Amino acid sequence: MPDIKCNLCNCWRNSSELKSLCSSTYSWYHEYLLSNGRTFNVNELFSCKGCTKALYTIKKDLSIVSISHSSESFPELMEVNDDNDGLTLDNITFIGSGHKRCVVCSLLVSSKMVLMPKAARLDLLLFYGLYAPRGIRSCTSHLLNGDRLRPDEHIDIENRLPIPTSLSSTEASELFNDLFSLIDELRSSSHLDFDSISLTDEDYQAWTGWTKEQFNLMFQYISSHLRSSSNRTSRNAFAIFWIKLKTNLSFRQIGSLFNMIGDSELRRKRASDTLDSVRELLILHFVSAHLGIGYITIDEAKIHNAAYTKVCIGFHNLH
Ligand SMILES: [Zn+2]
Ligand SMILES: [Zn+2]
Repeated sequence: MPDIKCNLCNCWRNSSELKSLCSSTYSWYHEYLLSNGRTFNVNELFSCKGCTKALYTIKKDLSIVSISHSSESFPELMEVNDDNDGLTLDNITFIGSGHKRCVVCSLLVSSKMVLMPKAARLDLLLFYGLYAPRGIRSCTSHLLNGDRLRPDEHIDIENRLPIPTSLSSTEASELFNDLFSLIDELRSSSHLDFDSISLTDEDYQAWTGWTKEQFNLMFQYISSHLRSSSNRTSRNAFAIFWIKLKTNLSFRQIGSLFNMIGDSELRRKRASDTLDSVRELLILHFVSAHLGIGYITIDEAKIHNAAYTKVCIGFHNLH
């Protein structure tokens, strides 16, 4: 005989089908009941498995209402749900239940879309608090080197519903595996990384002498000609060029900064080769852009002029 009542659907259930809502984890639910004028004994609050979704819908609605009130206290990132069927990340917003639209800009799926790679999904999670499950799609235009999320990509977080992320045990273990492999990759990755969203405008200026926007604008002109290699991505290669001109660090130091493979002599050579290939491309494409009048705006032209001057002065200093 079922002996306990589910507080949500009012059905009698066996205790094995119910979870208790007495802990402080569910204080939001207690408050919700009180605000609706319902009296209860906290030790008799239960929810059946069939009502889990309904419970989280209530929580979602509450969090939408309370967003404007509770911005002072920094929320805990993870709250482990105390039932056994998964993991709920309350402050990580779940995005992309539909696989028919781009997860970033919501465009309908087209041939220009790809399965969003793991690295880009982790960027969404770590930098924006958005969880996108495996199998989600995105336009290639949001991706850098087909892998990471572009550092200049604008992600609209404000207008997304804060739906808590409920992971099945399989999804949770996939997520942990993804995070572990990310940590592993970080150990061999560049210490300074211009592919990373976390670099600020000030970082860009301090290292390259340009704002992020100026950097992006110039990079556009040569990015399709500049190849990534096992030592550095094309964006980092472009950064290396400007870092050399701006800071006059030695090639050995730059090789170490970008964690290039090999001993210091090999690193020196790799950093120096990188500078040469970027320099050639800049000359080629800046000169042609200067000759092709009418295609660039005044602001772009200013940047070009400044860059062109810097490149020339820089060449002088290097020889
Ligand atoms: Zn129920
Ligand atoms: Zn898109």
